[in-house]
Amino acid sequence: MSNETAPSGFLLTTVEDFAGWARKSSIWPVTFGLACCAIEMMAAGASRFDLARYGMEVFRASPRQADLMIVAGRVSQKMAPIVRQVYDQMAEPKWVLSMGVCASSGGMFNNYAIVQGVDHVVPVDIYLPGCPPRPEMLINAINELQRQMQKEPLLTHRREVVKAVEAAALEA
Ligand code: SF4
Repeated sequence: MSNETAPSGFLLTTVEDFAGWARKSSIWPVTFGLACCAIEMMAAGASRFDLARYGMEVFRASPRQADLMIVAGRVSQKMAPIVRQVYDQMAEPKWVLSMGVCASSGGMFNNYAIVQGVDHVVPVDIYLPGCPPRPEMLINAINELQRQMQKEPLLTHRREVVKAVEAAALEA
């Protein structure tokens, strides 16, 4: 019987690679549109742009079955607690894509009614500029997010990120 051993870290790296591949290949976005950007998001899911090519055509009505939140449009102060509630109802691991300048920074709505960036409410993994971003841009951002997912460690402590966002919000 051979005394050969596998190189250190070989098995773990393989499992992580497999998990990353599985996660990035089966993203289910939550059905969630806030404003005009959502029209482009819907177009990305329709036949012309065919988001299904990347394994993510199933927009879920229940956040408990979704792992990607696409914040498509400006976030009003009234809507912010609901955005947070939907996020909290999604199971780990989960990701957030901020779509358009309004979701990312308030955009041209620099006023009392609009949250000046959804990252005040939930942790954002990727920001997509534009007003509105075209469906190809959204697909490109999701592809970039997929590359992040592939490299993400299996046991990422995302709750610590959430706690940091909450602590920063309390201090503000
Ligand atoms: Fe509408 Fe432009 Fe704001 Fe998107 S970025 S919600 S298209 S105003």
